[in-house]
Amino acid sequence: MVKAEYIWIDGHKPTAKLRSKTKVIDGSVSSLSDLPLWGFDGSSTMQAEGNDSDCMLKPVCYIPDPVRGGDSILVMNEVMNADGSIHTSNTRAHLSEIAEKYKDEETWFGIEQEYTFFQGRSPLGWPDGGYPAPQGPFYCGVGADEVFGRDIVEDHMEACIQAGIGISGVNAEVMPGQWEFQVGPLGPLAVSDQLWLSRWLLYRIAEDYGVNATLHPKPVSGDWNGAGAHTNFSTKSMRENGGLKVIEAACESLGSNHDAHISVYGAHNEERLTGLHETCSIKEFRYGVSDRGASIRIPMATANDGHGYLEDRRPSANMDPYQVCAILIETCCG
Ligand code: ADP
Ligand code: MN
Ligand code: MN
Ligand code: MN
Repeated sequence: MVKAEYIWIDGHKPTAKLRSKTKVIDGSVSSLSDLPLWGFDGSSTMQAEGNDSDCMLKPVCYIPDPVRGGDSILVMNEVMNADGSIHTSNTRAHLSEIAEKYKDEETWFGIEQEYTFFQGRSPLGWPDGGYPAPQGPFYCGVGADEVFGRDIVEDHMEACIQAGIGISGVNAEVMPGQWEFQVGPLGPLAVSDQLWLSRWLLYRIAEDYGVNATLHPKPVSGDWNGAGAHTNFSTKSMRENGGLKVIEAACESLGSNHDAHISVYGAHNEERLTGLHETCSIKEFRYGVSDRGASIRIPMATANDGHGYLEDRRPSANMDPYQVCAILIETCCG
């Protein structure tokens, strides 16, 4: 018997949420074709009307389930209509097309997922109904007075590694209770599937601690850092000699398509992209070397080497990587 956790993305607006349910499969699973299609009640997930509510789950990839262990697996799904056509909430299908169309560009993505732990109504470690000391010492801090939730962070990182997710690091963030992990560099579908699965694991593991993680871009208003999902991006030609010219041309195209990008970079992002707290205002577009107040940062090493990647600092923590990867490829490679 294999416990397969079927995971999908719902139709919640303005920000979709993860859902999952368990299928017990008689026999073993050695390829995607061993995983049957499955259904769910779309009227409970903002994906259907009550009188015609069947939606379909189509498995697209699976990984070992580090929470249950053994033969258990986590299965990522695309949501389809009952007749097999693509459901309107399914953003992966479009990325899949774009990834295929531009496959010769060999695009890579590294996503920095920031998030904030909450316990009750306050961020983890904050005094009840009050505020901790002002920001300053918490970023990459150590000690019980500086970082909160490290045991969860360690469990999550280990789980991701066990599951084969391409997690490339973790760090404590500027606001106490806020953390980051990075996934990538990987191709567009792999990084997006793995980011969604690593989010699911974060929620699931924090659940056992009685803590919840939020991806809200501005979980506490005022003089506290927001939470983003910086998206590091490169194509084959950006990574080769002379790539800096390709990166600069991409930055120009990104500047001409700023509004289209912002429209898929996450809800409530205007609360975060204010021009303060290491951000560029949502109303402006700027790129520059090493500039953490720009929309796009060209890392120092990339400028020095003359090739490498760019960092799009605009996506918010709650963004949908399927949409962000798709528009980056369309704007920079199209
Ligand atoms: P920051 O200095 O902005 O905090 P991080 O170290 O948190 O940067 O994240 C950088 C991310 O960029 C990592 O996930 C890394 O794997 C990824 N990355 C490195 N090289 C490339 C590349 N050529 N293309 C895309 N992503 C890359
Ligand atoms: Mn980072
Ligand atoms: Mn960060
Ligand atoms: Mn960054």
